[in-house]
Amino acid sequence: MNSENAMDAEAAWSPDAPCFLCPRACGAVRSRRPGRCGGGAAMRVALIQQHHGEEPVLSGPALGPRGSGTIFFSGCALGCVYCQNHDISIEPAGTAGSAESPHRIERDGWDGLRGLGREIGVDDLTAAMFELQLSGAYNINLVTAGHYAPLVRQALLLAREHGLTLPVVWNSSSYETVETLRLLDGLVDIYLPDLRYLDATAAARYSGAPDYPRVATYAICEMRRQVGDLVVDESTGLAKSGIIVRVLALPGDMGRADLALDWIADTLGTDTAVSLMGQYYPAYRAAEFPEINRGVTDGEYGKLFDHFEELGFTLGFAQAVGSSENGTPDFRQK
Ligand code: SF4
Repeated sequence: MNSENAMDAEAAWSPDAPCFLCPRACGAVRSRRPGRCGGGAAMRVALIQQHHGEEPVLSGPALGPRGSGTIFFSGCALGCVYCQNHDISIEPAGTAGSAESPHRIERDGWDGLRGLGREIGVDDLTAAMFELQLSGAYNINLVTAGHYAPLVRQALLLAREHGLTLPVVWNSSSYETVETLRLLDGLVDIYLPDLRYLDATAAARYSGAPDYPRVATYAICEMRRQVGDLVVDESTGLAKSGIIVRVLALPGDMGRADLALDWIADTLGTDTAVSLMGQYYPAYRAAEFPEINRGVTDGEYGKLFDHFEELGFTLGFAQAVGSSENGTPDFRQK
């Protein structure tokens, strides 16, 4: 662990100082106003529950009714126009999920809190992890927590000190800086990053982040450095440590998922665990982008799967086309 860098970064972050935690580097003083991510001074979470829709090595469907102990954080540094979790990630906090929700905001024209959620302190987050452990969850799955990373780090340190034994999963868009990821070195067991685009035009059009390909590939290399390839407990079939890279198929392959697979094969190697995501369905503002305003076809997904096999990957997870629309949690249920 590069503890010096991690401590520097932790010490450098305060809600009373300009925030540069993520690649947006918006410089918001979060005690005064939320940043581009919609995160304020305190952490906010939308939902804490056992979740059954992750990869089998995380959700353990063959083991029974228990699942991945998932903590969904409010807000997001990336903010994609097709986000299926837009209620908790992008929409203004006061309107998200309500019947009056506009389901559309100008992405750069809102400087309030984003997403459904409630404030949670470091101690409370640690307690939530223990509650999930006591409930029999297979892991602690932190979803889109990067904009709270220094606070999450404190909660993880406390949890480890007091006996948290479950593997910790960092479930992210990969739109994260290496410096921030180093805060988590030694505290996260399993990284579950997306690799959404290796095409800057698509990254700009759908996520307002033309730098995404560079940022995400650096981030994934850092994640891999920290945890290595996926290790699965043979007796349970559950992941113990390592990285699983999620590659999202967009309609018409607008994100060039084939290039993402090429990059993984060339840079990380074909022993890398890859999850081919066929779950896309048009959500949030996708209707404004006609080329992605439909699901992924079986043919499009099949072509990507063929490419995955041609490259010689040895470990992968396939998610059936359109399988997630009914599996997206209802964030209005507490
Ligand atoms: S984490 Fe949020 S507040 Fe900090 S730089 Fe990124 S967008 Fe701005």
